[in-house]
Amino acid sequence: MTTVVERITTGRAGFSVEFMPPRDEADEVRLWNAIRELEGLDPAFVSVTYGAGGSSRDRTLRTTGRLAQETDLVSMGHLTAVNHSVAELRNVIGWFAEQGIRNVLAMRGDPPGDPMGEWVKHPRGLEYAEDLVRLVRDLGDFCVGVAAFPYGHPRSADLDTDTRYLVRKLNAGADFAIAQLFFQPEDFLRLRDRIAAAGCQTPLLPGVMPMTTPKVLAKTVELSGSPVPAAIARRLDPLVGDAKAFRAEGIDIVTETCQRLLAEGVDILHFYTFNRSKATREVVGRLGLVPVRS
Ligand code: FAD
Repeated sequence: MTTVVERITTGRAGFSVEFMPPRDEADEVRLWNAIRELEGLDPAFVSVTYGAGGSSRDRTLRTTGRLAQETDLVSMGHLTAVNHSVAELRNVIGWFAEQGIRNVLAMRGDPPGDPMGEWVKHPRGLEYAEDLVRLVRDLGDFCVGVAAFPYGHPRSADLDTDTRYLVRKLNAGADFAIAQLFFQPEDFLRLRDRIAAAGCQTPLLPGVMPMTTPKVLAKTVELSGSPVPAAIARRLDPLVGDAKAFRAEGIDIVTETCQRLLAEGVDILHFYTFNRSKATREVVGRLGLVPVRS
């Protein structure tokens, strides 16, 4: 069974995509349309985010299972330690194995409600993502990824501390890392340099999201933890009242970022899709990352 790390280390440029558990039936239809539209473009792998609790977690598992059973895509389940005992985490990991899912993105997760609220470990749970990396590794032959943060994790005191713990987590048994959203290629490349300077060669994928609307731009600010840089604000701010022009410029900006990353030796770009395929297909097409058919 092909693993994520096998798919991202072929030396060929490509892309991967991230979906979210569908909220309702209409969302599920949208999601599966997006999956079918992207499938033919041969993404390196597809992943499904792990919900904050109960029914959303069930929907994550159902979607990841369906991807493994009903498509030829290499699928990865996200998993977080938040509000889980070790016994529950073992069950989920066992369920992944039963479904033929061999790839897990292991994270700590955020406290439900307020992501910056107090982190309280489950009394029989895990404290850090690195503990989850070890647990997944101990339970079987999994390919394990972790999260990385170009501007530092919001709870980290400074970038040096952030790098130290990130490298510790990678060395605990991670095969690769995926970076949180960022605005400019240098922000990602500096993170890659920090990891390399610490002597760690684990592959790192950039997280990419086409900034198609002011709402998506605001989401990028929220997830990345960075304000919009002046160079990008100068291009997008004047277009806020013109949806078509904003979208076109947003796609241009992301395409330029991706071109620079590919020129800097990045092989795989990881797209956050929010269960829509159009913008990803557009950027991937402009980058020439579509499979060559004979
Ligand atoms: P950790 O690596 O445990 O780090 C948490 C904090 O603790 C950091 O500040 C770190 O520096 C510090 N730290 C780490 N180890 C130690 C140590 N040994 N001693 C002291 N301090 C330490 N969230 C979801 O709920 N579901 C998802 O599906 C999801 N998918 C994501 C996908 C990607 C690509 C990314 C980038 C994020 C995703 N998130 C998701 C969000 C993520 O769960 C949160 O950002 C979370 O806060 C990050 O957890 P972590 O795994 O990086 O935590």
